[in-house]
Parts: sequence; structure tokens; C-alpha cells
Amino acid sequence: MTEQQTIDIARLPVMGEAAQQSYPTATLYVVATPIGNVTDITLRALHLLALADVVACEDTRKTGALLQRFGLNKQTLAAHQHNEREVADKIVERLRNGQRVALVSDAGTPAVSDPGARIVDAVRTAGLNVVPLPGPSAAVTALSASGLVNDRFHFVGFLPAKAKGREAALAPLARETSTLVFYEAPHRIVDCVEALMAAFEPTRQVVFARELSKLFEEVHRCPLSEALAWVKADQHRERGEFVVLVEGAVAATDAEDAEAERVLQILLSECSVKQAANLAAQITGRKKNALYERALQIKGE
Ligand code: SAM
Repeated sequence: MTEQQTIDIARLPVMGEAAQQSYPTATLYVVATPIGNVTDITLRALHLLALADVVACEDTRKTGALLQRFGLNKQTLAAHQHNEREVADKIVERLRNGQRVALVSDAGTPAVSDPGARIVDAVRTAGLNVVPLPGPSAAVTALSASGLVNDRFHFVGFLPAKAKGREAALAPLARETSTLVFYEAPHRIVDCVEALMAAFEPTRQVVFARELSKLFEEVHRCPLSEALAWVKADQHRERGEFVVLVEGAVAATDAEDAEAERVLQILLSECSVKQAANLAAQITGRKKNALYERALQIKGE
């Protein structure tokens, strides 16, 4: 075993490099912040937050507390999903006055299943400068530890809260070959898993990345058929934050696609959309929901 090394971060010569890049005034800085472990903040994020005239954030108390942990006492500006448009105007005005405005969300990368996109859009539309400072994002962190070998991923984010909405959102994804990336709130994780099980083949791999970078972090991979049992095996699992990844579909050959289409067309000439989808699923082995969606398209409904 090699000797374990420790690093005195404050004495690292590289610390000074964060300051070497130029940080122009009249610029909006989109700054990623930790998704759990506070020390995952980047050196550049700290440097910029110290430099900013104001920090626009979802929750001024939460961000105030984060800044305090780094000894920063900054003016904050509430920028959440209910006031994004109005606050965007205020930010544009500040930028026109030559300020540096930092934009953060409660955790992770702003504008990724978080407020921020409207503000960035308004700033760009006004012809002003936007600079992103990269850092944590739950989706990419989960993907990195998943072991799902696929160069492509399809970010879905949060599924709709209602069962019908979830079903409708998942149906068009049944043949998607990219890894699917979902965000989920703890109180909906069981509903989410049930919906995934109804939409995708039970043999697909699913990865639960729970409480990333926190004390009770877990990254678990299993076939979708075992997913519900895993979530229910420990009552703590229905708490905490989740990224759920689902292995993409095995690409259907053109011949298989054509066959499914042919079967569906024949059945639709004799049966209702629902019956046609049911029968076509039995005949082709395809998922019923996806066939139902396609049948609706064919019927023009
Ligand atoms: N913008 C953030 C990002 O870049 O990751 C995501 C914000 S979104 C409102 C919050 C969701 O992200 C949570 O419900 C969960 O799905 C996921 N998430 C955030 N932190 C997480 C963590 N530490 N572990 C697992 N999932 C997390």
C-alpha cells in the first residue's frame, strides 16, 4: 500500500490561478454550487462569488448560509421560479450599470431543472455578457458512477406529478436508445419506479443515485424488475434526493419497426386504438404504451 497523502488546500499554489482569469464587469455569471457536500464548491466559484456585486439566488436564506460558510457576506437578490421574469429586468438593469451579477440555484447548476434559463435568456436578448462557471450537477454526477456504457443520454428531469402525465411523458421514450436521466423527489420515488416498470422492459438496467456527496450516499444498479423491491427494502430509501437512470432501449432494426407498424395498421382497421395496441404488444413484444401512442398518431388523435 502506498503512503497516504494529504493536501493543505489553502497553501496550494494553484489557488492563485482562480484570480488570474479576467472577470469582466457588466456580466452575468452562472455559478454551479454543491449538491450536498459543501466542499465541492470550485475555487473559481468562490473567487467569483467574492467578486460579485450581488448574488441572485432561489432562496436568500439558503444561499446566505452557504456564502457565510466561506466567510462571504454578500448582497443577495431573490430569483426563483415565481419572479424570474421581473427579476430578470432588475438584473439586466444592474448589468447595464456595470455590475457583476452571480446567479446560483439552491444546489447544482442553475437552469438545469432549476430557475435561471429565463434570466439568462433576458440577459442575452439584451445583448449582455453571460459566463458559466462549471461545477456540480446531479445528472452528470450520477451518470459518471453508473457504469451504463452509452455515449448518449437523454435528460428528462422531473416527471409530471400525476399518473396520467407520467404515463404520457414516458410512452414516447420507450424506443429511445440513449440512457434516460430522471430527477425525482423522495415522496414520489415509488410512483416513479412503478411508472418506469410499466413503460420499459424489466430487463433494462436502472441506477439509483441517492443523496450524492452526502452522508447516506448510495449508487445502486439493478434490473428494472428488481427496482421497486430495492426502494422498499429500506424505509430510509423513500427519503433523500434521487437521480434515476434507465438504460436505453436496444435499437430496433428497421425490419422490426416496419413489422410493428404493419401489425398495428392491420389491427387498427378492425379494432379500437386500445385493443390494437394491446394485441400488437402481444404479437410483437413491444411495450403497449408506445404502441398506443403510435396508434393515436396513426388515427390522427
Ligand atoms: N440544478 C440541479 C442540478 O444541476 O443538479 C438540480 C436541481 S433539481 C430542483 C433537484 C433534483 O436534483 C432533486 O430532486 C434530485 O432529483 C436531484 N439532486 C439534487 N441533488 C442531489 C443529490 N445530492 N443526490 C441525488 N440527486 C440530487
